[in-house]
This record gives sequence, structure tokens and C-alpha cells, in this order.
Amino acid sequence: MLERSSKVCLICSVLSTGCFNMAKKVLIVYAHQSPASFNAAAKNVAVEVLTAKGYTVEVSDLYAMKFKATATTEDITGDVKNAEHFCYGNETKLAWEEGKLSADITEEQRKVTEADLIVFQFPIYWLSVPAIMKGWIDRVLTLGFAYTPEKRYSNGVFKDKKVMLSFTTHEAESTLSANGIHGDINVVLWPLQNGVLYYCGFQVLAPQIFWAASGVPTEARNAMLEAWRTRLQTLLEEEPLRFSPLDYFDEEKGFQVKPEVLEKHAAQKVGVAVGIHLGMPLPANSQLKAGV
Ligand SMILES: Cc1cc2nc3c(=O)[nH]c(=O)nc-3n(C[C@H](O)[C@H](O)[C@H](O)COP(=O)(O)OP(=O)(O)OC[C@H]3O[C@@H](n4cnc5c(N)ncnc54)[C@H](O)[C@@H]3O)c2cc1C
Repeated sequence: MLERSSKVCLICSVLSTGCFNMAKKVLIVYAHQSPASFNAAAKNVAVEVLTAKGYTVEVSDLYAMKFKATATTEDITGDVKNAEHFCYGNETKLAWEEGKLSADITEEQRKVTEADLIVFQFPIYWLSVPAIMKGWIDRVLTLGFAYTPEKRYSNGVFKDKKVMLSFTTHEAESTLSANGIHGDINVVLWPLQNGVLYYCGFQVLAPQIFWAASGVPTEARNAMLEAWRTRLQTLLEEEPLRFSPLDYFDEEKGFQVKPEVLEKHAAQKVGVAVGIHLGMPLPANSQLKAGV
């Protein structure tokens, strides 16, 4: 932790007498079974570079922790409100308010609260996150703590925090393209990046994708790790991806896109976003690059 001082601040790199910069905190939520894996290597590079830059880095190593992936009544200590018809969202909201969530969830929520940036590091499983990481999302990002009907998207709980997906694939980039056999990676990423991360308000940084990590030659893998190492140097300064702000939608009309937004996009001949495409072409690479 950096004290207020008259020395050069390690974070903002300027001589400052009024620096209140606390060391920024990064949480890496990591899901791989093997320390010999490429995912482990990517995670280790992140820990090494970010620590060297003066950030405090915490890792939630989900398999090592044997993190429970299922959302059940055991996630609440003591009696649940309605045991006959258990409703996970309502029950965990109440338990969160009363400090009755299980210790493992409470500890992960503490890490999220303290983090300025969260990196999810994982191998892509069935075009999504591994089940253990989906379990982390289901159980940690609970109603009340991570979102409410009023606090979501651009008004979301975590709008001052950054987040990103960093993952490996087996498949080549060409197969996950608009013309590729598995379909457009922008479509694949939309549910996670918009439906989970931006929904909770996070500023979503461009994903780090290690294409075909298990299929390319060693030199190509080494090059991908070096590119990651370089990106990490300035990661926290990156502009986030662009998502649709809440005021694009009319609540009284069932959260439909407002007429003025429709007009603008009709003129541009492109949809609002990957999922909100208005029956028009998707904004190209909007889930991969900031400013699109
Ligand atoms: C249930 C399931 C579903 C899947 N679904 C999909 C899917 O939908 N789409 C898809 O594309 N893939 C899918 N896969 C494949 C999976 O995503 C890949 O196997 C995974 O991404 C590869 O990453 P890894 O870390 O496990 O690689 P590893 O196999 O652990 O490593 C790859 C290579 O990197 C080497 N390596 C390790 N450390 C370093 C280092 N420091 N420097 C250089 N090289 C190193 C390793 O020795 C190895 O040769 C799925 C797999 C499973 C089990």
C-alpha cells in the first residue's frame, strides 16, 4: 500500500506531494487443473508483471480451492426463508444483507469489492467458461451484492471497476469468425461480456485470446505469452469496450430501444450491438476492440 508521500508514486509514475494512490488491486479468477498448462503460464505472467508494477495481485485458483460450482441452499448459513420453494436469487440477497452467505462466497465477494481489475483466466469449454468458473459467477455475483433491478448495465454496481476475459482455445481463429464453422467470436463473447460483466456494471476490457494454444508450435505459444506480457504493462490504462448505455432503452416500453437510437443506427446501417442488432449487420469486432 502506498502512503501519501513526496516521492515518485509507483502507480502514476509522477513526483507527487499529494498522491493518495493506494496500490491498485487485481483479482485473477483462474480455472485450470494443471500448473503445467498454458493457462497456468498465462496466469503466472500476469501475476509476475502486475506485481512488478506495484499492484497487489490475488489469485482465486478455483480447482485448487475445490470451489463449489453449484448454487444450493448450503450457500446460506442458518435457516432459509422459504425451504419449500427455494429461490436462489431472493434467498442470497437476504443472506447477503444479513451477513449469512457461506464463508467461501463471502471471501470471494471481499476480493471483488477490493479489486480494481478482475481477470478471468480459463480454457474455453463449449464456447464458454468451465463449469467451475460459471459456478463462481453464479454464487459470487449475487443479487444485491453485484446487481439489482435498478443498478445494472451503465448504472451497475461495479461501474468503477475493470474486468476482462483471458482465455485459450483449441480451435483456430479462422473457425471462430463470421465465415467460420463455429461462428463469430463476437457472438460467442456477447453473453459473458454483456450479459454477465457489463450487466454488473463493469468496464469490460478487450479480451485476451490465446488462439489454438494447444495446437500451435512452441514458438507461437512463446510469442503469445510475450504479447500478453507487453499488454499487461498498460492494461489498467486501456479504454473499455463500448456497450449500450441504459438511456438507449425506454423502460415504459418494456426496455425497447428508443426511436432516436433506432434512427441513428438505421442511418449507419448497423445494429446497436451484437445482441441488439435490430436485424442489421453487427458492429464488427465490437466484442474484441475498444471504440467500435
Ligand atoms: C470440456 C471441454 C470443452 C472444450 N470446448 C472447447 C471449445 O468450445 N472451443 C475450443 O476451441 N476448445 C475447446 N476445448 C479445448 C480447450 O479449450 C483447450 O484444450 C484449452 O484451451 C488449451 O489450453 P490449456 O491451458 O489446457 O493448454 P495445455 O494443453 O495445458 O497447453 C498447451 C501447450 O502449451 C504448453 N505450455 C505450457 N506452459 C507453457 C509455457 N510457459 N510456454 C509455452 N508453452 C507452454 C504445454 O506444454 C502444451 O504443449 C474444450 C476442452 C474441454 C475439456
